[in-house]
Amino acid sequence: MTTQLPAPLAPVHVGLIVERLKAEGRLDRLFIDGEWVLPAGQSRASVIDPSTEEPVVDIALGNAQDVDVAVAAARGAFATWSVSSAESRALLLGRIHTLILERAELFAQAISLEMGAALGFARSTQVPVAAEHIRVARDNLAGYPFLTHREGVAILREAIGVCGLITPWNWPLYQITAKVGPALAAGCTVVLKPSELSPLSALLFAEVVQDAGIPPGVFNLVSGNGPEVGAALSAHPDVDMISITGSTRAGVLVAQAAAATVKRVAQELGGKSPNVILPDADLARAVPAGVAAAFRNVGQSCSAPTRMIVPRERLQEVERIALEAALNFAVGDPRSPQTTHGPVANRAQFNRVQEMIAAGIAEGARLICGGPGRPEGLERGFYCRPTIFSSVHSQMQVAQEEIFGPVLVIIAYDNVDEAVEIANDTVYGLGAHVQGQDLAVARAVAARIRSGQVHINYPAWSPHAPFGGYKRSGNGREYGIEGLEEYLETKAILGFQDASMPSTTVKSSRNAQEQS
Ligand code: NAD
Repeated sequence: MTTQLPAPLAPVHVGLIVERLKAEGRLDRLFIDGEWVLPAGQSRASVIDPSTEEPVVDIALGNAQDVDVAVAAARGAFATWSVSSAESRALLLGRIHTLILERAELFAQAISLEMGAALGFARSTQVPVAAEHIRVARDNLAGYPFLTHREGVAILREAIGVCGLITPWNWPLYQITAKVGPALAAGCTVVLKPSELSPLSALLFAEVVQDAGIPPGVFNLVSGNGPEVGAALSAHPDVDMISITGSTRAGVLVAQAAAATVKRVAQELGGKSPNVILPDADLARAVPAGVAAAFRNVGQSCSAPTRMIVPRERLQEVERIALEAALNFAVGDPRSPQTTHGPVANRAQFNRVQEMIAAGIAEGARLICGGPGRPEGLERGFYCRPTIFSSVHSQMQVAQEEIFGPVLVIIAYDNVDEAVEIANDTVYGLGAHVQGQDLAVARAVAARIRSGQVHINYPAWSPHAPFGGYKRSGNGREYGIEGLEEYLETKAILGFQDASMPSTTVKSSRNAQEQS
């Protein structure tokens, strides 16, 4: 396994982002009602560079009072934004998309700095796929049937209202755009609370939205921590919907806080996704690609296929190929062009990965590579060793719990029924993979896996494929048309006649009527 000593961070990288954000006092402010405002809250949070463990900058955090102000702004703006034409919303989303791409380098550096992604990966993947969610939200507006008729009944799809959007640190910009894009497209107004651990890309995103010309109050950003700002948003009586991406723990707390006000709750939560390698799979392709997918973003993806489920008679071959694949990783300074994998994002995550590796060893899982501690030569930074365990059985902690780091487990099966049983044997159901040459068999296995997505033979990522969880991986779907519909309410009007309709309803449906 190649490792590199972290080179001192080139000042231009930190400087570029920090200077940009400092210029207008962004680091001290929230974005509410179209303005950068000082928060009522007095607390601040440090952004820690995971490659050095050093604080690089700190930002102001809002509190419940700031949430009240932001929600009031969003409520005020809803009356107009919700009845704006789909074309005007599409135009605005198009400008946001263009600006993200224009500022891609700034975003990539912010993401790399705040959560440790290799800069090359942030440039090639984190930023472009994030932009895709905005593009798709825009494109989905063309021709979307906001008004349909069924047996004399008019069925309107209307914006649900003010939405609180709570996002995690692992794909910081991507998780934001996956929510903000469709919410704005639907005609909702939003209050975004990004992860307090990755706030820089969110500040840059707010600048983009402002520069794109968003009307005041339609998009608001309240930086803050979960128990205070996240909880206040979730419980707020004037918020109509909360969408959270995060841990199952936080998702449950959000749903509990939201219950008293009967708001809609969308949850994109944890995962422990299986990768079923069928007996006829081409191992030379299926295994390295599976290892790469499990370790992508240093394993910090909710749908990472972290359980490779393999035919027992081919176990040794799988182990050998998996080891070879892991040996190609270059773990090190995220700003170095050679680096494929940076550190994990924060100290809590580092400790969690170490605990789970220790748990695997204690349970008798066999290390194929990696193990506890940092990779050789890396003395500081939240670097973990890419770790593969074999001789794992499905009841082990490392096979059941989401680790959210660079740890892959290999589990052997004796027949395909058992493979499916193992695949379904966790509380999660977010992503899944199936590898095999006989497509009919692979499809039949895919149909038996209880998860929101199943990928057969590593197809390309699609922003149109609905994404979300079965079981404790969540409720609701993001991406594509389903992602847009998440933010819509359904209204049936019986005895529908244009002339007698209330004026607001006529406005909101006019555009759709023209299109339908
Ligand atoms: P986290 O649950 O700690 O935090 C996620 C967000 O929730 C943050 O903004 C946080 O401030 C907020 N939050 C925390 N407690 C809260 C509370 N009581 N009320 C309201 N908000 C609260 O998760 P994380 O560590 O940032 O991200 C990692 C987790 O996210 C993993 O479990 C991962 O699987 C999950 N995740 C899921 C998806 C998905 O689409 N299903 C995508 C990415 C990450």
